[in-house]
Amino acid sequence: MDKLAGMANVDPVRLGPKSKFKFDCHPGVKCFTRCCKDINIILTPYDIIRLKNRLSLSSEEFLALYTEPQILEKTDLPVVMLKLLDVDDPESEGKACPFVRENGCLVYEDRPTTCRYYPLGVATLSHKEDPDVEEFYFFVNEPHCLGFEENREWTVSQWRENQGVDLHDAINAEWTELVVRKRSFPPNMQFTEQTKKMFFLVSYNIDKFREFVLESSFLQRYEVAAATLEEIKNDEIALLRFGLQWLKWLLFKEGDFKIKADGAGQSDSA
Ligand code: SF4
Ligand code: SF4
Repeated sequence: MDKLAGMANVDPVRLGPKSKFKFDCHPGVKCFTRCCKDINIILTPYDIIRLKNRLSLSSEEFLALYTEPQILEKTDLPVVMLKLLDVDDPESEGKACPFVRENGCLVYEDRPTTCRYYPLGVATLSHKEDPDVEEFYFFVNEPHCLGFEENREWTVSQWRENQGVDLHDAINAEWTELVVRKRSFPPNMQFTEQTKKMFFLVSYNIDKFREFVLESSFLQRYEVAAATLEEIKNDEIALLRFGLQWLKWLLFKEGDFKIKADGAGQSDSA
């Protein structure tokens, strides 16, 4: 019952970009919107940015209203899931996405990455254990989904393009890399609670992260070029990318973040 493959019935066949399948989804299918009920959707950083802007909310407000926290399996990293609403629907388990309506998705143009992939799953968040293994896809087989009975043929690449997945994946790429790298760690290697807090801040609470960079002692501790500073003040995607670079440095001591000579003793706290 999950859109997040890894918790659903996953077809073990590994698909590549050229793999073909027959599928279609439109208001005429009998199961229309069924897959938006009893679901489990883990949100990515770019999902939050798109959705909170769509709803004219701050990231903090969006998190409070529409998400619930979860620890991502095998990573010990804090992530968020879409918070489902209770619904009176005898054909489901009684839970539905807050954005589903009879005629479809209320936030369709800004729907999350997982909704775009469906009925495909992508290995990065759920199954990929090794950062060096090439990306792969699989079918999320749910009995209620009748889209496979339709006749339209796709390759995986065509589906991704049609659903606008590429942009989401490009913006989330460094984040998913961090998650996959953490999953490849031995289980006894854990981040501190403070480091996990910073992972959550950058990943999901972009407005608070902006405040953290601009209004805490961050700029006294780290060297940030004037042009970068100007860019991240005005561009959320640039801010997210900056934050992910910082996380990479914080988590794995990689990248070119520079601590100022007199800022070394100060700690990272939001
Ligand atoms: S965001 Fe839209 S597509 Fe995704 S589960 Fe909710 S209603 Fe369905
Ligand atoms: S065909 Fe599948 S993806 Fe489309 S509405 Fe039905 S269950 Fe959802």
